[in-house]
Amino acid sequence: MTKFVYDFAEGNKDLKGLLGGKGANLAEMTNMGLPVPPGFTITAEACQAFLANGREPAELSAEVTQHLAALEVRMGKKLGQTDDPLLVSVRSGAKFSMPGMMETVLNIGLNDQSVRGLAAQAGNERSAFDSYRRLIQMFGKTVLDIDGDHFENALDEAKTAKGTTNDLDLDAEDLRKLVETYKQVVVEQAGREFPQHPREQMDLAVRAVFDSWNAPRAILYRRQERIPADLGTAVNICSMVFGNLSEDSGTGVAFTRDPASGAKGEYGDYLQNAQGEDVVAGIRNTLSLSDLARLDPTSHDELMGIMAQLEEHYRDLCDIEFTIERGKLWMLQTRVGKRTAAAAFRIATQLIDEGLIDEHEALQRVTGAQLAQLMFPHFDDTAAHRKIAQGMNASPGAAVGKVVFDSYTAVKWSRSGEKVILVRRETNPDDLNGMIAAQGILTSRGGKTSHAAVVARGMGKTCVCGAESLKVDTKARHFTTSDGTVYEEGTVISIDGTSGEVFLGEVPVVDSPVVRYFEGEIDPEGTGADDAGELVKAVHRIMRVADGGRRMSVRANADTEPDAARARQFGAQGIGLCRTEHMFLGDRRSLVEALILADTDSERERQLAELLPLQREDFKGLFEAMDGLPVTIRLLDPPLHEFLPDITELSVRVAVAEARGEPREGDLRMLQAVHKLHEQNPMLGLRGVRLGLVIPGLFAMQSRAILEAAAERVQAGGVPRVEIMVPLVGAVQEFESVKDDIVKVARDVRAETGAHLEYLVGTMIELPRAALTADQIAESAEFFSFGTNDLTQTTWGFSRDDVEAAFFSHYLEKGIFGVSPFESIDREGVGELVRIAAEKGRERRPGLKLGVCGEHGGDPESVHFFDEVGLDYVSCSPFRVPVARLEAGRANA
Ligand code: ADP
Ligand code: MG
Ligand code: MG
Repeated sequence: MTKFVYDFAEGNKDLKGLLGGKGANLAEMTNMGLPVPPGFTITAEACQAFLANGREPAELSAEVTQHLAALEVRMGKKLGQTDDPLLVSVRSGAKFSMPGMMETVLNIGLNDQSVRGLAAQAGNERSAFDSYRRLIQMFGKTVLDIDGDHFENALDEAKTAKGTTNDLDLDAEDLRKLVETYKQVVVEQAGREFPQHPREQMDLAVRAVFDSWNAPRAILYRRQERIPADLGTAVNICSMVFGNLSEDSGTGVAFTRDPASGAKGEYGDYLQNAQGEDVVAGIRNTLSLSDLARLDPTSHDELMGIMAQLEEHYRDLCDIEFTIERGKLWMLQTRVGKRTAAAAFRIATQLIDEGLIDEHEALQRVTGAQLAQLMFPHFDDTAAHRKIAQGMNASPGAAVGKVVFDSYTAVKWSRSGEKVILVRRETNPDDLNGMIAAQGILTSRGGKTSHAAVVARGMGKTCVCGAESLKVDTKARHFTTSDGTVYEEGTVISIDGTSGEVFLGEVPVVDSPVVRYFEGEIDPEGTGADDAGELVKAVHRIMRVADGGRRMSVRANADTEPDAARARQFGAQGIGLCRTEHMFLGDRRSLVEALILADTDSERERQLAELLPLQREDFKGLFEAMDGLPVTIRLLDPPLHEFLPDITELSVRVAVAEARGEPREGDLRMLQAVHKLHEQNPMLGLRGVRLGLVIPGLFAMQSRAILEAAAERVQAGGVPRVEIMVPLVGAVQEFESVKDDIVKVARDVRAETGAHLEYLVGTMIELPRAALTADQIAESAEFFSFGTNDLTQTTWGFSRDDVEAAFFSHYLEKGIFGVSPFESIDREGVGELVRIAAEKGRERRPGLKLGVCGEHGGDPESVHFFDEVGLDYVSCSPFRVPVARLEAGRANA
């Protein structure tokens, strides 16, 4: 028979799945011998059964009765006993903490009789009625679904009648009357009497916790946070202790160190003569822990001792809830506490120094996502600015601009040099141009999978979404905040995509000290003392551990010498992808156009010969910046029409010229060429290796430029490590044909220059067919680089340029995937092709060098996957290089 109820003494911290986070940690503290009020936990399995069958499992009631009886014996009083009641709290607690679920009902067991018993026992009538009115209030709100305002208003009226704003000024008689009012509210709003029977109160509360698992807000939260929908929640029944008995009672929350900066010290809030959530609810000003030290040194010392013990035990920052009842300290909750990215790094290194964890473990205590967060510019001194709204942190960064309400205005204003923030209720594909033009995006509706959030993350643009307190009126061109203030179009605001905050006015943006450290501007040895300095030191130390431990190397995708130099500063160990297409743009466009238009071999050769020296110079710079490190250069990939004028514009020009009777020969020829090259599906058309096979001499020219540049570097004493990469290969025959040409060119260059040249010729694997025939391709290819962007496009049949804005938000909302496959590798599909290709390739050519050069190379989750399947390196944009280094280290630790 399944056991559905566990005494606190029966559980431990590793049973979070069964007992929920709160229950597991209450059990752990109980077994550590800490002062936890006795109680028991109903398992998440009971909740699962309840949700599946619509009623509690048959055995549950008897098991609860048995544990309750044991608790009553232990406490020497019965639940709700008239002359001296045992009271309990009923507390929800899932495996992952989840706002949106029913939280807690305190003081269960009080009724019209037992409230008098409690008053007599405690010698305090006021606090007994205060507890009773809290019970009815919490029970009414969370179990009976009554709008909390009804109770709040009644409380306010009672205070007003008394001429006070402080709840402590209400005396026993006031509170007794308030109880009557509350009971009346229950009858009016819920159509039933407040239940007087203690066990009925408890059972109803337990069921309400079960039910709250499927409250709409909870469902939404789970979907956004990717929490499985079938876990269910546990319920904790905990005997009450009272922080609202007297001035030497109180309740508080504390952190074992500062969760914001990671600094050591006492961090917490304490409220005298108060119960439960009063601390966070902000009903009165709280005291600090040092105030507590003054008021009640014994309890304070004990608390400090327990906090030290908890840190030592959990080997991490903990947060706790405690209550003091007439000078006696009780622990009501603990868990490993949430912290900012900066605090995560600092605490990890502090814990090494304190001997609580080793370096490997420290590496697991931080993430690439946190490091990425620390590298974004952030707002300085937000305290000096008015926060006008809070939304969700959809896409990180700090953006400042003037409010605009539509895409058209966003584009128009930004063209005239204004910085704008696009504010919408929610966005749709029509808003795309505005989103591109804006510094950042703010929406009042939708979560982290909304259109705005998905597209902004894809563009790397700052976004705050779901700022629900904002009323956005796009027609009237203004928005209204919760206090009723109206902000017109053109108002300057600042949005923080990392915290979800929205500020009025321009908040100054500062560069991240972590980036300045990577750029060599801050010396990690010579810094410290302030928060930024300590952070840099911690990051430096963790990066050393990561670099020391990783198996994969990390390269950068860089096309220019400055990018390459920056990548090297960030720790890149080579270039994994140099795209050559940008080398065909700008001033060189006319050469490329002439090349495409050439209709004789000699004309084509002439154009190629002009391009050659220009390309050679580009490559020389790269080899110099990456001297001694491998540089992978990809031969021309995109369809040729991308280098030609836009078909519509050109057609109009030709038509206008003809209408004027002055047709232009050049334009006409160009238009014919554009028509000839026009493709319905350019992504699947004449591009990559296909270009090399169709345009004679193009790849040979590029290879010659690469190899001549390398030869010059060799002659100048450099060490160029050349890797020539052929894109979009689907069959080994395509590759072989191109490789033959490259080998011939190399032979010629060697003969001409006399330089001893080493080079590799390899291929991208970005078509399913290439992955599936990787063994054949590996016969001839000397390395593989997985182009996971194209491989994702071609495996899913998704056009990357269209689908994200068009419908990915629907897919994410429906849970078809949890994250865009362009953001994080789809392990089962695209990833499986990578695995197959890696295996087949290495079977045929042991030691085949394998890397990845898609965006996924900088995505933490994907980096772990690439480590798993044995790739030699990942390559990503220069800015992501530190993130990839960290994650490659974590993956292999
Ligand atoms: P949450 O998950 O929202 O923190 P909790 O179950 O921890 O909800 O309870 C809310 C508040 O009630 C907390 O301040 C907690 O310390 C207090 N509380 C819960 N159970 C008891 C109890 N048995 N005695 C006294 N206070 C309690
Ligand atoms: Mg709590
Ligand atoms: Mg590609």
